[in-house]
Amino acid sequence: MKIDNFNLNSSVKETLLSYSADSLFPQTMLIEGADTEKRTELARFIANLILCTSDREKPCGVCSACIKCKALSNPDVREYGEEKAGAVFKVDTAREIRSDAFVIPNDSDRKVYIIKETQNMNDAAQNAMLKILEEPPHFDYFILTADSRGAMLDTILSRAVVLSLGEAVPSFSDGVKSCCKELAVALCKRSRFAVTEALAAVYNDKQIFEEFCDCTEEMLVGALRLKKTGAADGVTPECERLALSLDDDELYRLFEAVKQAHSQFKQNANYNILITYMSVRLWGAIE
Ligand SMILES: [Zn+2]
Repeated sequence: MKIDNFNLNSSVKETLLSYSADSLFPQTMLIEGADTEKRTELARFIANLILCTSDREKPCGVCSACIKCKALSNPDVREYGEEKAGAVFKVDTAREIRSDAFVIPNDSDRKVYIIKETQNMNDAAQNAMLKILEEPPHFDYFILTADSRGAMLDTILSRAVVLSLGEAVPSFSDGVKSCCKELAVALCKRSRFAVTEALAAVYNDKQIFEEFCDCTEEMLVGALRLKKTGAADGVTPECERLALSLDDDELYRLFEAVKQAHSQFKQNANYNILITYMSVRLWGAIE
């Protein structure tokens, strides 16, 4: 198993590669997003990275630690928590982990706890876990998985490096991206003529309409989020430009206009009428 077998977004991948290169890992990590299987698979992969004894590319796949990890029989990897929906993570299990954590590793000089689906822990169980996460023995590493970090207490989150799996970022075709860019410029200029010009490609090619809607919605949501939270991660220059030039209401109205056209398209509305109506609503949003 190599890191490229996981469909990781580039920031998670780079983070893991840098930990692995220095063989320095945070003692608590939380994997969120994607689905249960993916989270567990990645947790096992990271456990293998932590324990692999090769001084070359890890996991080497041939050292004793790697072979045991692959067979899920490495005594220095412990797994707790159930993957099935509706499972309850009991406070007793958290206590069991706590007392086990002080036992020194078997084969290696490190020990990894994979604690699965921690969204199933109630506050009492999380608090029991917290006690060990606060001051873990130097040889312990904890990899928690959860559907979302939102399920975890802030006190746990503040001790964990969160690795988000998330959905793969949709990638739009160059033609659609340039069409969206042009539309952003036109909207910022508040020019009816430029908006019409920007939509020309969509007028002439019904095939790209849905992709165009997705791309434009993402751009407007990015601009709104930037305005509201100042969160600039993953924000394109078009989002920044829109956030600077338009106010919240205008951005909302634009978003609504695209969203509505998008849903009418899915219901097979007459395309020519639909696109004309959408342009009128786009103009209306910024006048
Ligand atoms: Zn190895």
